[in-house]
Amino acid sequence: MNIFKKATDASQLPEVEHLTPEELMTLQHLLIDRKEGIAAGTGATVASLTSQQIIQPDEMDQASSESDREFGLRIAQREQKLITKIEEVLERMAAGEYGECVSCGEAIGYRRLLARPVAGMCIDCKTEAETAERISGFR
Ligand SMILES: [Zn+2]
Repeated sequence: MNIFKKATDASQLPEVEHLTPEELMTLQHLLIDRKEGIAAGTGATVASLTSQQIIQPDEMDQASSESDREFGLRIAQREQKLITKIEEVLERMAAGEYGECVSCGEAIGYRRLLARPVAGMCIDCKTEAETAERISGFR
């Protein structure tokens, strides 16, 4: 099957440890909806994510109009990156590796995946990585 198309039956997806076929299909649909949403130019997910995580309100106040354009470009780049990321996640799903932390190999909980279906790390590893990222500065 085409892994970038929604499965119509849970049995079309490879078995993944820690997730039921129904949970996996729900997550596959979420990923594809998000990918298609970004491709359709809504970009709402990334825009809200970006403003929350990258630009703090007081930094936004200081931003000049030239950096608004830069900001828009950065969002477009992040959207493109996210589409690529979603495709990678769908490929991992097709390989039966979805829902495993890429860092420690532990299972990522279904609830965390529902909230963030592109999550590649468990909450512990992610927290650690984000702390490291904060120290090294925003990307
Ligand atoms: Zn982990």
